[in-house]
Amino acid sequence: APVIGVLALQGDFREHLSALERCGTRTVGVRRPSELADLDGLVVPGGESTTIDKLLRRFDLMAPLRERIASGLPVYGSCAGMILLADRILDGIEGQQTIGGLDVTVRRNAFGRQVDSFEEDLHAPALGATPSDPPMRAVFIRAPWVETAGDAVEVLATVSTGPAAGRIVAVRQGALMATAFHPEISGDARVHRAFVDLVEAHR
Ligand code: GLN
Repeated sequence: APVIGVLALQGDFREHLSALERCGTRTVGVRRPSELADLDGLVVPGGESTTIDKLLRRFDLMAPLRERIASGLPVYGSCAGMILLADRILDGIEGQQTIGGLDVTVRRNAFGRQVDSFEEDLHAPALGATPSDPPMRAVFIRAPWVETAGDAVEVLATVSTGPAAGRIVAVRQGALMATAFHPEISGDARVHRAFVDLVEAHR
């Protein structure tokens, strides 16, 4: 089984570790640069992207992580993790940095103050959610969306109804994957399964 790390500086890394274990992978919480060495893949969890950014820099993880991504390490980012994988952020805080790698511009806290969190069924064929499959219930918590995406970026899911209809909420580019929502909370294994498949394909 592949070894998949979960960045364990802040946020809901425990839920991702459990979700990956249910997919049959070996898992490790990552807090130090040396723990990046033996990974086949990495998850950057939801939480607070500004805090995770500061901790990545304080613990000297930012540069080695960027190097591993440049040399093809598969990484999945959820919510704050999506923000951290984006090359560009709108509505970030002063001086906020990202790991980068995904040729997207994300808008932080995009769904607005009135809607701190909500759930929605997604149409996401590439993630195994078509009208004939069970719907994929997505949980959004102060979530970003992808405002613009480069040509190399594959859109995996968009919002289907309401004022945010059409907004991009899941993407893939090469070995990088990101969702604005939290499959580790909804308990729907399909997103983690898709990431494990991506990791297997890159081993
Ligand atoms: N709003 C948070 C941020 O800017 C993300 C929220 C989440 O990960 N649930 O990082």
